[in-house]
Amino acid sequence: MQLTKRQEHILDIVKTEGPITGEQIAERLNLTRATLRPDMAILTMSGILEARPRVGYFYSGKKPGRMLAEKLHQVLVGEIKSVPVVVPENCTVYDAVVTMFIEDVGTLFAVREGGYLEGVISRKDLLKFTLGGQDINKLPVGVIMTRMPNVVYVESEDSVWEAARKLINHEVDALPVVKEFKGENGMSLLEVIGRISKTNIARVFVELGEGNF
Ligand code: ADP
Repeated sequence: MQLTKRQEHILDIVKTEGPITGEQIAERLNLTRATLRPDMAILTMSGILEARPRVGYFYSGKKPGRMLAEKLHQVLVGEIKSVPVVVPENCTVYDAVVTMFIEDVGTLFAVREGGYLEGVISRKDLLKFTLGGQDINKLPVGVIMTRMPNVVYVESEDSVWEAARKLINHEVDALPVVKEFKGENGMSLLEVIGRISKTNIARVFVELGEGNF
């Protein structure tokens, strides 16, 4: 994060004199409090300075890069996930293509009764199939999808950093967000409750840039 000259100056004052009130900082700089307000907002919003009521501003001691890292670990998948678009495993390739267009997504999740994760269908899975010259009205997506246990997923309590790391490491565009249940025979069942795509991650990036989160 690039600070302006004035913000650097404020930072120096707070580092040496903090805790210090906004009024006192304004006096040191021969400016009004109103003029300083946007700078103080940026410095506190970014976490470089902390403000305590009736005490004033003090230096948090955190480097901007470190703070961004902390934020990325704090924002949880559950806060940013999208609605999952799911199809049954016996859905035809044709219907899967239509669903992708209607729902405007690039990845579908195949689920069985109860919404439990069975597989993932990407755009390229569907394209690859069309090269074979088979009937897209007959073949079910179950034949072409990436199947459990090879599906990479996240849970609501995971951080966005963890989700982004999985997207990159596994070179995929989207991850199902699941909730784990123990089935009758002790087998774990993964209910699909959301979707995280590269778009969600890019959106978080934009929001962080705007000072949200
Ligand atoms: P695209 O096909 O548009 O390049 P992806 O890169 O996401 O989309 O998919 C590449 C391959 O990885 C496909 O075969 C797909 O089935 C598989 N895949 C996609 N998402 C996942 C996931 N979350 N876990 C495991 N495999 C996945």
